Amino acid sequence: MLVVGSKARYRTAARGVFHCERCGGDREYLHRAGRRWLYALAVPLLPQAGAASEHLRCVECGTCYRVDLLAVPTTQEMRAALVAATTAAVLAMLQAGGWASPAARRSGVELIQKAGSEDYSEASLAVAVPAMRAELAEHPAGQELDASPRLGPAVEMFALQLEEHAKEWFLARIVQVGLADGGLSEDERQVARVIARHLGMSQDRAQDVIWLTEVASA
Ligand SMILES: [Zn+2]
Repeated sequence: MLVVGSKARYRTAARGVFHCERCGGDREYLHRAGRRWLYALAVPLLPQAGAASEHLRCVECGTCYRVDLLAVPTTQEMRAALVAATTAAVLAMLQAGGWASPAARRSGVELIQKAGSEDYSEASLAVAVPAMRAELAEHPAGQELDASPRLGPAVEMFALQLEEHAKEWFLARIVQVGLADGGLSEDERQVARVIARHLGMSQDRAQDVIWLTEVASA
């Protein structure tokens, strides 16, 4: 029996969903905060100063992790970021040119569907592109700089998860949408450069990817 000693007591400070590495997927967690208490004859007497600690515990497997793990996106968050970045980039590319081309619209819709938004359709584009144009007309400075105020945040959030090759792959797919109506206009090329910048790619590397994609589609 513990006559005198110290033991940690935890309470659940929060709950949520995180990516559990041991389970290999999104799981519920308990964010547990605790402190050490001085015990005598199994009765907690005093909390010990400076000994507080906290961790995340997977409800499924019981593995405990450091709280820093909350900065790692869950699988669901990663999927949502892919859809948001793809949709924003396709819309920016189509409104820069190709919007009138059925082949370009089809190519854009297919890319958004493959990213995970399976219900996306030409009808969705028919709402989104004019809405984006109206937004740009209200903020002419945004047009010059960025094609859309929503493009930068969506692409930057997605880019946090990407290796260099994955960034190049993403840019090439968007350039293909621009090429679907036959070639890249100067405005479409500018959108591709802006997307590359939000992906964190160098302008030289972006230029190479744009050029290689053009050559491959010729
Ligand atoms: Zn787990």
